[in-house]
Amino acid sequence: MHKSSTRSWAEPFKIKMVEPVFMTNYEQRQKFIEDAGYNTFLLRSKEVYIDLLTDSGTSAMSDRQWAGMMMGDEAYAGSENFYHLEAAVQKYYGYKYVIPTHQGRGAEHLLSKILIKQGDFLPGNMYFTTTRLHQELAGGTFIDVIIDEAHDPESEFKFKGNIDLQKLKDVIESKKPENVPYICVATTVNMAGGQPISLHNLKEVRKMADQYGIAIVHDMTRVAENAFMIQQHEPGYLNKSVAEIILEICSLTDHATMSAKKDALVNIGGFLATNDDDLYTEASNWVVVYEGLHTYGGLAGRDMEAMAIGIAESVQDDHIRARVGQVHYLGERLLEFGVPIVRPLGTHGIFLDAKKILPHVSQDNFPAQTLAAELFLDSGVRAMERGIVSAGRDEKTGKHNYPKLELVRLTIPRRVYTQAHMDVVAESVNEVYLNRDKIKGLEMTYEPKYLRFFQARFRKL
Ligand SMILES: *Cc1c(COP(=O)(O)O)cnc(C)c1O
Repeated sequence: MHKSSTRSWAEPFKIKMVEPVFMTNYEQRQKFIEDAGYNTFLLRSKEVYIDLLTDSGTSAMSDRQWAGMMMGDEAYAGSENFYHLEAAVQKYYGYKYVIPTHQGRGAEHLLSKILIKQGDFLPGNMYFTTTRLHQELAGGTFIDVIIDEAHDPESEFKFKGNIDLQKLKDVIESKKPENVPYICVATTVNMAGGQPISLHNLKEVRKMADQYGIAIVHDMTRVAENAFMIQQHEPGYLNKSVAEIILEICSLTDHATMSAKKDALVNIGGFLATNDDDLYTEASNWVVVYEGLHTYGGLAGRDMEAMAIGIAESVQDDHIRARVGQVHYLGERLLEFGVPIVRPLGTHGIFLDAKKILPHVSQDNFPAQTLAAELFLDSGVRAMERGIVSAGRDEKTGKHNYPKLELVRLTIPRRVYTQAHMDVVAESVNEVYLNRDKIKGLEMTYEPKYLRFFQARFRKL
């Protein structure tokens, strides 16, 4: 294997089953996007040619995983598949205990409920929507302690997921350690564009946590992608395997929540993991209330089997190199075309800078929403808005929140699309970019009260 050479990253698998997708023409797409109110969330999957809405639950499973699905032990208690999952979590992540949950937020719910008391503060390397909401519902307040570079799309810093140690120290001292039950460390940081944290930084965070007697909770949704970036870019790790680096990351943390729909290559599932006997006992009690018995947590036996096998596949160097390689291939093609995107390239998607691409569309006319709709019109590629629509309104003033960034996220499912698909995407983005002067913005015709980006409707100006 060529770890850091210029040799190609081709996939370590071949294709044995295909799912036909629908090729559409411009007139059809015009009707589809109009009917969807210019919101890609309201398109039917059938109307989409290449679906880059999310990498969550959209991976292709391997023949081994599908074979594992046939070995589902659908017993209510003590399913054999649970023990396979437990063994995989212990072997590849190093945590002592695992409690399955229906997906990542199920684990976040249990953990927040147990560890957070009213008035607590939770420092973390940028928020994630469900994580923050569960912290708040448990009575806590999230505080962002990520480094400033993470908020700057121009910064080329390689580890934008790092925690600012001074910010962390200030939070702990000003809020008092007894009101900070844990520090949340995400690998990689989704909302920063899939940016990794370095092992050097994590070790420093561990030191500070120990100094104050505070736990570290690991949001390990994309830990394999983070480990690959450490292998490639952090001095001293090029000769370590991704699997070894993952174990080192996990060993520096106390508890973990996992959305297995991302790195672990399954369509549904997640878990809570911990090294702490007491937390395990309490969580295995609560899981019965909210998810199911502690040996299935809302999952079928077959889903736990697919997860156990997916975890083993996800830590292989060849797999993760091709996964991140494909994302970077798309990013590099766009850079060659001169399309403004967020840098450095993240590990699960590419983010188009809609403010730079459509400077003549004011933020009140939704540049990122407009760009995502235009991309669908051009080629049937579905992307997601991450700009003013997603940012919602200020609760007090009722005015739009005006985020600094207007982004369109092209998220790549794992093992699903080919390099030729990535070429189609890059060429389509470039076509839209070349015709950007003709593009006009949108106006909102329907605005739901909560999480408006999912269901808002628009019309063309
Ligand atoms: C997806 C995600 C979650 C939540 O997981 P679900 O499986 O969607 O409930 C938590 N944290 C991060 C970083 C994620 O990307």
